[in-house]
Amino acid sequence: MARIGFIGVGNMGGPMAQNLLKAGHEVRAFDLASDAVERAVAAGATEAASVQEAATDADVVVTMLPAGKHVRQVYLGDDGIIAAASANTLFIDSSTIDVATAREVIAAAEAGGMEMIDAPVSGGVGGAEAGTLTFMCGGTDGAFDRAKPYLDQMGKTIVHAGPAGNGQAAKICNNMILAISMIGVGEAFVLAEKLGVDHQTLFDICSTASAQCWALTSYCPVPGPVPASPANRDFQAGFTATNMLKDLRLSQEAAEGFGAKTELGADATRLYAAYAEENGMAAKDFSGIINMIRENSG
Ligand code: NAD
Repeated sequence: MARIGFIGVGNMGGPMAQNLLKAGHEVRAFDLASDAVERAVAAGATEAASVQEAATDADVVVTMLPAGKHVRQVYLGDDGIIAAASANTLFIDSSTIDVATAREVIAAAEAGGMEMIDAPVSGGVGGAEAGTLTFMCGGTDGAFDRAKPYLDQMGKTIVHAGPAGNGQAAKICNNMILAISMIGVGEAFVLAEKLGVDHQTLFDICSTASAQCWALTSYCPVPGPVPASPANRDFQAGFTATNMLKDLRLSQEAAEGFGAKTELGADATRLYAAYAEENGMAAKDFSGIINMIRENSG
C-alpha cells in the first residue's frame, strides 16, 4: 500500500481521497480549509500541517485544486511540493486548469527528476463519491502506467490522451462541445414552443434523427422526456453553470493561445457568462440556460 499526499480535499478531492483510503492506502491530507481537512481525518486520513509535509516521503501526491494559479503555488518554487518531495514521488494533478500551466508544472517536475501527469476528471461529486470518475490523462507512458492503478481506485474510465497537458486539452474540448450542443438543444426547444410542437414530440423525433446528441438524450433541458435530467428538479446541479463557464473560458484561452478559431465556443462563453453571472444562476445546472433563452425570446 502506498503513502499518498492529497492536497485539496474539497467537494471532489474529499471523496476521491476517501476512495484511496478504502483501497487501503495511507493518506496525508492538506487543505487551506480546516473543515475539509476535518472531514478527511474523520474518514481515516492523517492531517498534514503544510503542502510540504503532505509531499515529504510520499509515493504519490494527488492535487485537486480550483485553478492554475493554485497549482503553480502548490508545486513550484522553494516552498512547493516539487522541492519537498523525493525523486521517486509521482505527482497526479486532477484539477481542471489551463493547458499551458499543466505543461509548465509537469516540465518543472520532470526537471526535478520526477514523474507527473495531468488527470482532470469528469463525473462530478457523484462520480467522485461512487469511484466512477472519468480521468483524461496527459504525460509520458511511464508516468501514466504508474498512475493508472491509483486512478482505477477513484474512477471507472481512465484514458491516456497523449503527452503532458493533453488531459486538460481533451477535457476543455469535450466541455466546449457540450456547451455548444446544450445551447443548440435549448434554442430548438424554445423555437418548437413558439411553433406549437410539444416537448415530447420534438424529443421523440430529434432523439432518433440527425440531431441526436448527449445534451438531448441524456440531459434533456425540459422536464419529462428524460426523467433523471436536472430540468425535472428545477435545474438543481448536476454540473453547475459556473463550472461550465470556467471550462469554456479555459477553452477560449487555449483557442487564443494556440491559434484555433472557435466562434461558437466564443458565443457559448458569452452566453454562459450572461446566464451564470449577469442572471445570477452560477449555482444552477448548466442546462438551465434554456430559461435564459426562453426569457430572451419574450
Ligand atoms: P472545491 O473548492 O470544493 O475544492 C478545492 C479545494 O482546494 C478547497 O477545499 C480549497 O480550500 C483547496 N485549496 C485551494 N487552494 C489551496 C492551496 N493552495 N493549498 C491547499 N488547498 C487549497 O472545488 P472542487 O469542486 O472540489 O473542484 C476541484 C477541481 O475539480 C476544480 O479544478 C474543478 O474545476 C474540478 N472539477 C470539479 C467538478 C465538480 O463537479 N465539482 C467536476 C469536474 C472537475
